[in-house]
Amino acid sequence: MWKSCPYCRDYSFDEQALLNLTYFKDQPCKSCGKLVRNDGLRQLLLLPAILAGLLSGAVILFIIPPWLTPIGWLLLVIFGFVPLLLLPKPIKADGRVLALFDPDPKNDKAIMVEGWESEQLDLIIAGFIAKEDSTAPHYTIEIDQQREDCYLLTFPDDIHPAIFAALIHYLQYPVEFRVPDSAINIVGRTTLNGAFDALPEELIGERAYLYLPEDDQDFDIVYLQTESGANLSCSLTDRVWRAEVTDRVSLAAKKVMTNP
Ligand SMILES: [Zn+2]
Repeated sequence: MWKSCPYCRDYSFDEQALLNLTYFKDQPCKSCGKLVRNDGLRQLLLLPAILAGLLSGAVILFIIPPWLTPIGWLLLVIFGFVPLLLLPKPIKADGRVLALFDPDPKNDKAIMVEGWESEQLDLIIAGFIAKEDSTAPHYTIEIDQQREDCYLLTFPDDIHPAIFAALIHYLQYPVEFRVPDSAINIVGRTTLNGAFDALPEELIGERAYLYLPEDDQDFDIVYLQTESGANLSCSLTDRVWRAEVTDRVSLAAKKVMTNP
């Protein structure tokens, strides 16, 4: 029942992923992380297919002898459910347009990376650059070692805020390595500007820290806390910043924020 990803051809879409697949929201492939959505025509056909399935089930229920009724009901449920798995088909999501961005060579964006070894970090960054969509404005990444397994990344040509957030996320959850989350600590800092999509205007010009939420269940979200204490989060799927009531800073991240 699994379907393959249009990018990496892995059969990464199980029943759960297919049920969640819609035309209206992009979701990442579990293998390569690239964004896919449901085929539009198939989305359109879904409801008629379910109705046709239920109708066929009802007809069968009507014509079979009474002692087969339980099986008739079972068929009706199956006929109604099967289109949900058979019809959806992951296709490439059109690249979302990034918010307008004016690169600033004097930018103060930086990412503190704790826990990866030097060779691992090189591999992860190469993997990220290869994966990141080609519509992103050009950027370069400078790596400075602070102490053992602790590095500071800076961006001499600046980096688009959406790519910046995606990189912070990727450094925590690279496809290249699987390690316990607690071993890796990633914190970004920057001064906020208008290229942070949907950021409230009063926060522009404030300094902020970006981090992965503690007890992360989404694996798709980056959090941000400004110096005035405002909390926001951004889903990598739509790259829009939304207000959050509370922060979700981990102890390890807090250490970096209070002692940069
Ligand atoms: Zn894939």
